[in-house]
Amino acid sequence: MRTETVIKHVSCDVCKNSEEKGFPIKRMSAAVLDFGHYDEYGNFHEDIGKNVTSQQLDLCKKCASLARDRVIKRKTQMFTQNIYYVFQDLIARDEEAE
Ligand SMILES: [Zn+2]
Repeated sequence: MRTETVIKHVSCDVCKNSEEKGFPIKRMSAAVLDFGHYDEYGNFHEDIGKNVTSQQLDLCKKCASLARDRVIKRKTQMFTQNIYYVFQDLIARDEEAE
């Protein structure tokens, strides 16, 4: 029987702080909205009408406490495994400016 040692570098899914740099990371469920995707040209396409779902994310202490009362937006990129997470109210929303 073969044993393998897997070294995991855990980092926060939102701000990318890592455990190695002294930020304790824990896996927890958070409210995530699938917000849209980038196409192969880097243009962003917003997906309208998606529901907020509960997803397991690796979060640092700061983001974990923010996640308790905020929704995290998830953006994906076509043809890649890249996923971007960002807190909803940290995005400037031009359409709400009046
Ligand atoms: Zn974080």
